[in-house]
Amino acid sequence: MNHCVFCKIISGELPAHRVYEDEQVLAFMDISPINHGHVLIIPKIHYSELRSIPLATSIAVWEVVKKVEYAIWQTPDLICDGTNVLQNNGAAAGQEVFHAHFHVIPRREGDGSRFRFRTINSSEQMRNDWAAKIKDQIDAA
Ligand code: AMP
Ligand code: ZN
Repeated sequence: MNHCVFCKIISGELPAHRVYEDEQVLAFMDISPINHGHVLIIPKIHYSELRSIPLATSIAVWEVVKKVEYAIWQTPDLICDGTNVLQNNGAAAGQEVFHAHFHVIPRREGDGSRFRFRTINSSEQMRNDWAAKIKDQIDAA
């Protein structure tokens, strides 16, 4: 996967401001932050999307997400009133780099960045039907 920008960061071919690193996971500063302190967390093995990551690796990544999110709250001068933890899968969901990653974004009161999705109409019956269909897939997995 040597065309992947995040694989190039892992290998050192591209520079990054590293925040944390262990055998399985790397955390580094986003090059176009939504706020100061915006960090990305990635598995060191290339998986395109969340569903491709093996469970053990997912747990290792999530531990670092938690570690970074906590550290951001503690960081002096960052003025963190809240955080968003985001993870996009597929172009339709806004994924631009196809090496699975989590964003941890510090938020400030009145910072003007609003994650506001539109909502759709959904009846009790529809939610019931979708719950059953999704549950079928979980049971079949
Ligand atoms: P996504 O839309 O979830 O795929 O987000 C990709 C993120 O990767 C964006 O926030 C970019 O700013 C960030 N990004 C892209 N290239 C680099 C890079 N070389 N170093 C750090 N962050 C990057
Ligand atoms: Zn990659």
